[in-house]
Amino acid sequence: MTDLTSLTIAEARDGLASKSFTSLELTDAHLAAMEAARSLNAFILETPDKARAMARAVDEKIAKGEGGPLAGIPLGIKDLFATRDVRTTACSKILGNFVPPYESTVTSQLWRDGAVMLGKLNNDEFAMGSSNETSCFGPVVNPWRREGSNTALVPGGSSGGSASAVAALLCMGATATDTGGSIRQPAAFTATVGVKPTYGRCSRWGIVAFASSLDQAGPIARSNRDAAILLRSMAGHDPKDTTSVDIAVPDYEAAIGKSVKGMKIGIPKEYRLDGMPAEIEKLWSEGAAWLKAAGAELVEVSLPHTKYALPAYYIVAPAEASSNLARYDGVRYGLREPGRNIIDMYEKTRASGFGAEVRRRVMIGTYVLSAGYYDAYYLRAQKVRTLIKKDFEDCFAKGVTAILTPATPSAAFGVGEKGGADPIEMYLNDIFTVTVNMAGLPGIAVPAGKDAQGLPLGLQLIGRPFDEETLFSLGEVIEQAAGHFTAPKWW
Ligand code: GLN
Repeated sequence: MTDLTSLTIAEARDGLASKSFTSLELTDAHLAAMEAARSLNAFILETPDKARAMARAVDEKIAKGEGGPLAGIPLGIKDLFATRDVRTTACSKILGNFVPPYESTVTSQLWRDGAVMLGKLNNDEFAMGSSNETSCFGPVVNPWRREGSNTALVPGGSSGGSASAVAALLCMGATATDTGGSIRQPAAFTATVGVKPTYGRCSRWGIVAFASSLDQAGPIARSNRDAAILLRSMAGHDPKDTTSVDIAVPDYEAAIGKSVKGMKIGIPKEYRLDGMPAEIEKLWSEGAAWLKAAGAELVEVSLPHTKYALPAYYIVAPAEASSNLARYDGVRYGLREPGRNIIDMYEKTRASGFGAEVRRRVMIGTYVLSAGYYDAYYLRAQKVRTLIKKDFEDCFAKGVTAILTPATPSAAFGVGEKGGADPIEMYLNDIFTVTVNMAGLPGIAVPAGKDAQGLPLGLQLIGRPFDEETLFSLGEVIEQAAGHFTAPKWW
């Protein structure tokens, strides 16, 4: 039998339906791959008993012809998603051994459709980071290495465990979340496909909150088709999330292979940064040429407020984080450090439970929201956010269907290489992705090529609100032209 872990979700779905193998066999193959790849530190909790029980149950359903759209497909779950009776920590010491008595809406929809849970995936603490180095479980290693080098590279973040596990064939797909780039940047670093849906497309209920007006769940997978299959199950209206939007979920997979002829694709001139590596420039023009060859029309567009997006994001996101994280007080969840009185207990718990990056965000957030500074920082950033959104609206009003940009300003970097002395060095990773969250739009990162050292690079497509389908159609054109990229196995 071919190695079951190298199948795509679409291929596995066919194999399961034709009874070439069972979900239990498929699940066991992935559990063995996970065990052999522990050095990547992608999974922080393996749930083999649960996985096998779910696989057996779904095999019975498949036998009776009752399997759902994801019947028998083994997936990994980012540790930001609450999973009932399974430890959920957001990779923070402060949640300790928190075991939620409830299931997030997104994961419950995956199980409803027959998927199998392999375990929980590593991420940056509370999803704050771009390299998965802020996790209390330690960094994740990217299965990709520079040619001829053994240097351990980061998989990006914050969904680093999700990207690394999918790229290393440890799971067929994974859930992830994106507040400023956390699905798309790790996807670009690992040659996987990552989708940040329109704000409101997936329910945030049961996902550990970082910055509620920016957070969105989405899939990481090995092809556009697989990402489309996963998003269909993850998306949908949920009355438990008041920002969830009541729009029917389309069959995203039907968009794969659809013609992109006549679509107007914007190339934003402000994304051409000074000192941008020539390889990224080249990738971007190649992507444009592929879309043109498929019949799309390429037009230069302007998104004039782009340069304010990152500074505004680093006001809005910490502000929301500081209020969301106020709930971790040593009383309700996880860790409690005893103190002389309640204030002392709060202070000791929060000082020892939060890592350095999270503490920095809480302090920045508290500062920009405090009386006297609120108008100068927070309110101002919100106004900038409106202008960023308007830039995109103006573009779409002129008939632009989608926008093509690089996904990241560089390929994956080494563990410990960035952000040690200056956090801004790390924040710059999201220069091409944060605008999309600020505007609430959908974005997809698709593998498009490699740099001179053999590391994957990705392109990003940004769409109109709730038009993820077009992104899948365009992403497929890039995938067909660029081909597939698999990390050579060394672990
Ligand atoms: N890297 C960004 C941050 O640290 C975005 C993270 C995310 O999307 N969760 O805020």
